Amino acid sequence: MIIVVKKGASREEVQEIVAKIEASGLKAHVSKGEERTIIGAIGDERKLNVTQLEALNGVEKVMPIVKPYKVASREFHPEDTIIAVEGVKIGGKELAIWGGPCSVESEEQVFAIAEAVKKAGVKLFRGSVYKPRTSPYDFQGMGDKGLKILKKVKDELGLVIETEVMDIRKVEIAAKYVDILRVGARNMQNFDLLKEVGKINKPVILKNGLSSTIKEFLMSAEYIMSEGNHKVILCERGIRTFETETRFTLDISAVPVLKSLTHLPIIVDPSHAAGRRDIIGALSKAAVAAGADGLLIEVHNAPEKAMCDGKQSVTTNDFPAMLEGIGKVAEAVGRTMPK
Ligand code: PEP
Ligand code: MN
Repeated sequence: MIIVVKKGASREEVQEIVAKIEASGLKAHVSKGEERTIIGAIGDERKLNVTQLEALNGVEKVMPIVKPYKVASREFHPEDTIIAVEGVKIGGKELAIWGGPCSVESEEQVFAIAEAVKKAGVKLFRGSVYKPRTSPYDFQGMGDKGLKILKKVKDELGLVIETEVMDIRKVEIAAKYVDILRVGARNMQNFDLLKEVGKINKPVILKNGLSSTIKEFLMSAEYIMSEGNHKVILCERGIRTFETETRFTLDISAVPVLKSLTHLPIIVDPSHAAGRRDIIGALSKAAVAAGADGLLIEVHNAPEKAMCDGKQSVTTNDFPAMLEGIGKVAEAVGRTMPK
Protein backbone atom coordinates (compact mmCIF):
# COMPACT_ATOMS: atom_id res chain seq x y z
CA MET A 1 0.00 0.00 0.00
CA ILE A 2 1.11 3.56 -0.62
CA ILE A 3 0.02 6.34 1.69
CA VAL A 4 0.29 9.76 0.11
CA VAL A 5 0.92 12.33 2.83
CA LYS A 6 -0.89 15.67 2.70
CA LYS A 7 1.24 18.63 1.65
CA GLY A 8 2.40 20.48 4.74
CA ALA A 9 1.67 17.62 7.13
CA SER A 10 3.64 17.90 10.37
CA ARG A 11 6.32 15.47 11.55
CA GLU A 12 3.94 14.23 14.25
CA GLU A 13 1.26 13.51 11.66
CA VAL A 14 3.73 11.51 9.56
CA GLN A 15 4.84 9.67 12.70
CA GLU A 16 1.21 8.85 13.51
CA ILE A 17 0.82 7.21 10.08
CA VAL A 18 4.02 5.20 10.53
CA ALA A 19 2.90 4.06 13.99
CA LYS A 20 -0.47 2.96 12.63
CA ILE A 21 1.21 0.89 9.88
CA GLU A 22 3.66 -0.70 12.28
CA ALA A 23 0.94 -1.48 14.80
CA SER A 24 -0.70 -3.56 12.06
CA GLY A 25 2.47 -5.64 11.72
CA LEU A 26 3.69 -4.07 8.45
CA LYS A 27 6.89 -2.19 7.74
CA ALA A 28 6.65 1.52 6.96
CA HIS A 29 9.05 3.14 4.55
CA VAL A 30 8.96 6.93 4.36
CA SER A 31 10.26 8.56 1.20
CA LYS A 32 10.46 12.31 1.23
CA GLY A 33 10.41 13.70 -2.28
CA GLU A 34 10.78 17.30 -3.31
CA GLU A 35 7.07 17.53 -4.00
CA ARG A 36 5.54 14.89 -1.82
CA THR A 37 6.10 12.51 1.05
CA ILE A 38 4.97 8.99 0.39
CA ILE A 39 4.86 6.16 2.90
CA GLY A 40 5.03 2.60 1.68
CA ALA A 41 3.42 -0.05 3.86
CA ILE A 42 5.04 -3.40 3.18
CA GLY A 43 3.76 -6.74 4.39
CA ASP A 44 0.40 -8.44 4.60
CA GLU A 45 -1.88 -5.66 3.39
CA ARG A 46 -5.00 -7.45 4.61
CA LYS A 47 -3.94 -6.49 8.14
CA LEU A 48 -4.19 -2.78 7.34
CA ASN A 49 -7.39 -0.99 8.17
CA VAL A 50 -7.58 1.39 5.21
CA THR A 51 -10.59 3.30 6.52
CA GLN A 52 -8.80 4.07 9.78
CA LEU A 53 -5.67 5.07 7.91
CA GLU A 54 -7.62 7.39 5.65
CA ALA A 55 -9.12 9.03 8.72
CA LEU A 56 -5.70 10.20 9.98
CA ASN A 57 -5.00 13.92 9.68
CA GLY A 58 -1.84 13.66 7.62
CA VAL A 59 -3.25 11.25 5.02
CA GLU A 60 -4.27 12.47 1.59
CA LYS A 61 -4.98 9.07 0.08
CA VAL A 62 -4.25 5.38 0.39
CA MET A 63 -3.54 3.44 -2.79
CA PRO A 64 -2.62 -0.17 -3.51
CA ILE A 65 0.69 -0.89 -5.29
CA VAL A 66 -0.52 -2.77 -8.32
CA LYS A 67 2.85 -4.28 -9.30
CA PRO A 68 3.95 -7.57 -7.71
CA TYR A 69 7.28 -5.94 -6.83
CA LYS A 70 6.45 -3.34 -4.23
CA VAL A 71 9.52 -1.67 -2.70
CA ALA A 72 11.31 -1.80 -6.04
CA SER A 73 8.49 -0.10 -7.93
CA ARG A 74 8.37 3.52 -9.06
CA GLU A 75 4.98 3.83 -7.39
CA PHE A 76 6.62 3.15 -4.02
CA HIS A 77 9.38 5.69 -4.58
CA PRO A 78 8.65 8.08 -7.47
CA GLU A 79 12.06 9.76 -7.45
CA ASP A 80 15.28 8.14 -8.67
CA THR A 81 17.22 6.42 -5.92
CA ILE A 82 20.79 7.58 -5.55
CA ILE A 83 23.08 5.18 -3.72
CA ALA A 84 26.11 6.71 -2.05
CA VAL A 85 29.07 4.46 -1.37
CA GLU A 86 32.42 5.67 -0.06
CA GLY A 87 31.78 9.14 -1.47
CA VAL A 88 30.66 7.94 -4.92
CA LYS A 89 27.06 8.44 -5.97
CA ILE A 90 25.36 5.82 -8.12
CA GLY A 91 22.19 6.90 -9.91
CA GLY A 92 22.90 10.64 -10.01
CA LYS A 93 23.92 12.91 -12.86
CA GLU A 94 27.49 11.62 -12.87
CA LEU A 95 27.78 8.22 -14.53
CA ALA A 96 28.98 5.37 -12.32
CA ILE A 97 31.70 3.60 -14.24
CA TRP A 98 33.36 0.41 -13.08
CA GLY A 99 36.54 -0.80 -14.71
CA GLY A 100 38.52 -3.89 -13.84
CA PRO A 101 39.30 -7.46 -14.76
CA CYS A 102 36.85 -10.31 -14.99
CA SER A 103 38.85 -12.13 -12.33
CA VAL A 104 41.40 -11.32 -9.70
CA GLU A 105 44.42 -13.31 -10.90
CA SER A 106 47.35 -11.93 -8.90
CA GLU A 107 48.28 -8.85 -6.92
CA GLU A 108 50.52 -7.66 -9.72
CA GLN A 109 47.76 -8.00 -12.36
CA VAL A 110 45.12 -6.34 -10.20
CA PHE A 111 47.34 -3.37 -9.34
CA ALA A 112 48.42 -2.84 -12.95
CA ILE A 113 44.77 -2.67 -14.02
CA ALA A 114 43.58 -0.68 -11.01
CA GLU A 115 46.24 1.97 -11.50
CA ALA A 116 45.32 2.29 -15.17
CA VAL A 117 41.57 2.60 -14.60
CA LYS A 118 42.14 5.10 -11.82
CA LYS A 119 44.31 7.18 -14.13
CA ALA A 120 41.46 7.12 -16.66
CA GLY A 121 39.23 8.76 -14.03
CA VAL A 122 37.31 5.71 -12.88
CA LYS A 123 36.42 5.46 -9.17
CA LEU A 124 34.80 2.05 -9.07
CA PHE A 125 36.79 -1.17 -9.46
CA ARG A 126 35.42 -4.59 -10.39
CA GLY A 127 37.04 -7.99 -9.96
CA SER A 128 35.72 -11.48 -9.20
CA VAL A 129 37.33 -13.90 -6.78
CA TYR A 130 34.58 -16.55 -6.84
CA LYS A 131 33.92 -17.45 -10.46
CA PRO A 132 30.74 -18.97 -11.89
CA ARG A 133 32.29 -21.03 -14.71
CA THR A 134 30.39 -23.21 -17.16
CA SER A 135 33.10 -25.88 -16.87
CA PRO A 136 34.28 -27.21 -13.51
CA TYR A 137 37.73 -27.61 -15.08
CA ASP A 138 38.12 -23.88 -15.78
CA PHE A 139 39.72 -21.38 -13.38
CA GLN A 140 37.35 -21.05 -10.43
CA GLY A 141 38.79 -17.82 -9.03
CA MET A 142 41.31 -17.03 -6.29
CA GLY A 143 38.71 -17.31 -3.54
CA ASP A 144 39.16 -15.60 -0.18
CA LYS A 145 42.81 -14.74 -0.93
CA GLY A 146 41.58 -12.51 -3.75
CA LEU A 147 39.47 -10.47 -1.31
CA LYS A 148 42.63 -9.34 0.46
CA ILE A 149 44.11 -8.13 -2.83
CA LEU A 150 40.95 -6.16 -3.57
CA LYS A 151 41.06 -4.59 -0.12
CA LYS A 152 44.67 -3.59 -0.73
CA VAL A 153 43.58 -1.83 -3.94
CA LYS A 154 40.99 0.07 -1.93
CA ASP A 155 43.44 1.01 0.82
CA GLU A 156 46.30 2.01 -1.46
CA LEU A 157 44.48 3.53 -4.44
CA GLY A 158 41.22 4.67 -2.87
CA LEU A 159 39.07 2.86 -5.41
CA VAL A 160 35.63 1.59 -4.40
CA ILE A 161 35.67 -2.20 -4.70
CA GLU A 162 33.05 -4.71 -5.82
CA THR A 163 33.03 -8.47 -6.22
CA GLU A 164 30.62 -11.29 -6.96
CA VAL A 165 29.21 -13.64 -4.33
CA MET A 166 27.78 -17.00 -5.37
CA ASP A 167 27.42 -18.73 -2.04
CA ILE A 168 25.53 -17.57 1.06
CA ARG A 169 28.50 -18.81 3.13
CA LYS A 170 30.72 -16.17 1.48
CA VAL A 171 28.48 -13.13 1.93
CA GLU A 172 29.82 -12.25 5.37
CA ILE A 173 33.50 -12.43 4.50
CA ALA A 174 33.05 -10.67 1.16
CA ALA A 175 31.09 -7.86 2.82
CA LYS A 176 33.94 -7.48 5.30
CA TYR A 177 36.45 -6.78 2.54
CA VAL A 178 34.59 -5.05 -0.29
CA ASP A 179 32.23 -2.08 -0.64
CA ILE A 180 29.71 -3.52 -3.09
CA LEU A 181 28.58 -7.11 -3.63
CA ARG A 182 27.42 -8.48 -6.97
CA VAL A 183 24.89 -11.23 -7.62
CA GLY A 184 25.68 -12.59 -11.07
CA ALA A 185 23.34 -13.54 -13.88
CA ARG A 186 23.41 -17.24 -13.01
CA ASN A 187 22.26 -16.51 -9.48
CA MET A 188 19.55 -13.98 -10.19
CA GLN A 189 16.97 -16.43 -8.89
CA ASN A 190 19.04 -17.95 -6.12
CA PHE A 191 16.49 -16.79 -3.59
CA ASP A 192 18.48 -17.79 -0.51
CA LEU A 193 21.44 -15.76 -1.76
CA LEU A 194 19.17 -12.80 -2.51
CA LYS A 195 17.76 -12.94 1.01
CA GLU A 196 21.27 -13.15 2.48
CA VAL A 197 22.57 -10.07 0.62
CA GLY A 198 19.32 -8.40 1.67
CA LYS A 199 20.50 -8.55 5.26
CA ILE A 200 23.73 -6.62 4.77
CA ASN A 201 24.12 -2.87 4.73
CA LYS A 202 26.12 -2.56 1.51
CA PRO A 203 25.04 -1.91 -2.07
CA VAL A 204 24.34 -4.96 -4.22
CA ILE A 205 24.66 -5.09 -8.00
CA LEU A 206 22.02 -7.51 -9.25
CA LYS A 207 22.42 -8.79 -12.81
CA ASN A 208 19.57 -10.05 -14.92
CA GLY A 209 19.41 -13.81 -15.51
CA LEU A 210 20.37 -15.14 -18.93
CA SER A 211 16.76 -15.83 -19.87
CA SER A 212 14.77 -13.92 -17.30
CA THR A 213 11.99 -11.45 -17.89
CA ILE A 214 12.12 -7.89 -16.60
CA LYS A 215 9.36 -8.73 -14.14
CA GLU A 216 11.36 -11.67 -12.76
CA PHE A 217 14.41 -9.40 -12.54
CA LEU A 218 12.47 -6.88 -10.46
CA MET A 219 11.01 -9.63 -8.27
CA SER A 220 14.59 -10.67 -7.49
CA ALA A 221 15.43 -7.08 -6.54
CA GLU A 222 12.34 -7.20 -4.32
CA TYR A 223 13.73 -10.27 -2.53
CA ILE A 224 16.82 -8.27 -1.53
CA MET A 225 14.84 -5.17 -0.60
CA SER A 226 12.23 -7.08 1.39
CA GLU A 227 15.01 -8.08 3.81
CA GLY A 228 15.77 -4.41 4.45
CA ASN A 229 18.62 -3.69 2.03
CA HIS A 230 17.30 -1.04 -0.35
CA LYS A 231 20.69 -0.37 -1.96
CA VAL A 232 20.15 -2.41 -5.10
CA ILE A 233 21.75 -1.51 -8.44
CA LEU A 234 20.24 -3.32 -11.42
CA CYS A 235 22.62 -4.40 -14.16
CA GLU A 236 21.51 -5.33 -17.68
CA ARG A 237 24.14 -7.79 -18.94
CA GLY A 238 22.55 -9.21 -22.08
CA ILE A 239 20.04 -11.96 -22.69
CA ARG A 240 20.10 -15.27 -24.53
CA THR A 241 18.88 -15.01 -28.13
CA PHE A 242 19.45 -16.98 -31.35
CA GLU A 243 22.27 -14.60 -32.36
CA THR A 244 25.78 -16.05 -32.32
CA GLU A 245 27.92 -13.11 -33.45
CA THR A 246 27.79 -11.83 -29.91
CA ARG A 247 27.97 -13.85 -26.69
CA PHE A 248 24.54 -12.58 -25.59
CA THR A 249 22.30 -9.81 -26.93
CA LEU A 250 22.38 -6.53 -25.03
CA ASP A 251 18.75 -5.75 -24.27
CA ILE A 252 18.96 -2.00 -24.67
CA SER A 253 15.20 -1.63 -24.32
CA ALA A 254 15.50 -3.00 -20.78
CA VAL A 255 17.14 0.28 -19.76
CA PRO A 256 14.24 2.70 -20.40
CA VAL A 257 11.69 0.02 -19.47
CA LEU A 258 13.38 -0.55 -16.10
CA LYS A 259 13.71 3.21 -15.62
CA SER A 260 9.96 3.56 -15.95
CA LEU A 261 9.15 0.63 -13.64
CA THR A 262 11.66 1.16 -10.85
CA HIS A 263 13.44 3.94 -8.98
CA LEU A 264 16.63 1.88 -8.62
CA PRO A 265 19.83 2.83 -10.49
CA ILE A 266 20.28 0.91 -13.76
CA ILE A 267 23.71 0.09 -15.09
CA VAL A 268 24.79 -1.85 -18.17
CA ASP A 269 27.50 -4.48 -18.56
CA PRO A 270 28.42 -4.37 -22.25
CA SER A 271 31.33 -6.80 -21.76
CA HIS A 272 29.38 -9.97 -20.97
CA ALA A 273 26.64 -9.01 -23.43
CA ALA A 274 29.09 -8.62 -26.32
CA GLY A 275 31.72 -11.22 -25.55
CA ARG A 276 34.07 -9.27 -27.84
CA ARG A 277 36.00 -6.11 -27.13
CA ASP A 278 35.54 -4.38 -30.51
CA ILE A 279 31.93 -3.36 -29.81
CA ILE A 280 32.15 -2.46 -26.10
CA GLY A 281 32.51 1.25 -26.91
CA ALA A 282 29.45 1.26 -29.18
CA LEU A 283 27.30 -0.64 -26.69
CA SER A 284 28.42 1.63 -23.88
CA LYS A 285 27.41 4.71 -25.86
CA ALA A 286 24.04 3.14 -26.65
CA ALA A 287 23.51 2.33 -22.98
CA VAL A 288 24.26 5.88 -21.87
CA ALA A 289 22.04 7.30 -24.62
CA ALA A 290 19.21 5.01 -23.45
CA GLY A 291 19.46 6.40 -19.91
CA ALA A 292 21.77 4.01 -18.08
CA ASP A 293 23.21 5.37 -14.84
CA GLY A 294 26.49 3.58 -15.31
CA LEU A 295 28.62 0.92 -16.95
CA LEU A 296 30.39 -2.18 -15.68
CA ILE A 297 33.30 -2.78 -18.03
CA GLU A 298 35.93 -5.51 -18.08
CA VAL A 299 39.43 -4.07 -18.54
CA HIS A 300 42.70 -6.02 -18.65
CA ASN A 301 46.34 -5.07 -19.05
CA ALA A 302 47.14 -8.29 -20.95
CA PRO A 303 43.86 -9.79 -22.20
CA GLU A 304 45.70 -12.45 -24.21
CA LYS A 305 46.92 -13.88 -20.90
CA ALA A 306 43.68 -13.42 -18.92
CA MET A 307 42.42 -16.45 -17.02
CA CYS A 308 38.85 -15.53 -17.97
CA ASP A 309 37.04 -13.37 -20.54
CA GLY A 310 40.15 -11.92 -22.19
CA LYS A 311 38.37 -11.73 -25.56
CA GLN A 312 35.83 -9.26 -24.24
CA SER A 313 38.21 -7.24 -22.07
CA VAL A 314 39.13 -3.77 -23.22
CA THR A 315 42.86 -3.15 -22.92
CA THR A 316 44.16 -0.67 -20.38
CA ASN A 317 45.70 1.13 -23.36
CA ASP A 318 42.40 1.54 -25.22
CA PHE A 319 40.26 2.28 -22.17
CA PRO A 320 40.87 6.07 -21.85
CA ALA A 321 39.95 6.79 -25.49
CA MET A 322 36.86 4.65 -25.18
CA LEU A 323 35.78 6.65 -22.12
CA GLU A 324 36.34 9.86 -24.03
CA GLY A 325 33.93 8.68 -26.74
CA ILE A 326 31.35 7.69 -24.12
CA GLY A 327 31.80 11.14 -22.56
CA LYS A 328 30.53 12.83 -25.71
CA VAL A 329 27.30 10.86 -25.58
CA ALA A 330 27.04 11.48 -21.84
CA GLU A 331 27.25 15.21 -22.42
CA ALA A 332 24.58 15.06 -25.13
CA VAL A 333 22.11 13.42 -22.72
CA GLY A 334 22.90 15.66 -19.75
CA ARG A 335 25.17 13.28 -17.85
CA THR A 336 28.72 13.79 -16.68
CA MET A 337 31.69 11.47 -16.62
CA PRO A 338 33.49 10.69 -13.36
CA LYS A 339 36.40 12.99 -12.80
C1 PEP B 1 30.94 -11.07 -14.18
O1 PEP B 1 30.54 -9.89 -14.20
O2 PEP B 1 32.08 -11.36 -13.83
C2 PEP B 1 30.05 -12.16 -14.63
C3 PEP B 1 30.34 -13.42 -14.39
O3 PEP B 1 28.98 -11.73 -15.32
P1 PEP B 1 27.52 -12.42 -15.51
O4 PEP B 1 27.07 -12.84 -14.16
O5 PEP B 1 26.74 -11.30 -16.10
O6 PEP B 1 27.71 -13.54 -16.46
MN1 MN C 1 33.74 -11.95 -16.98
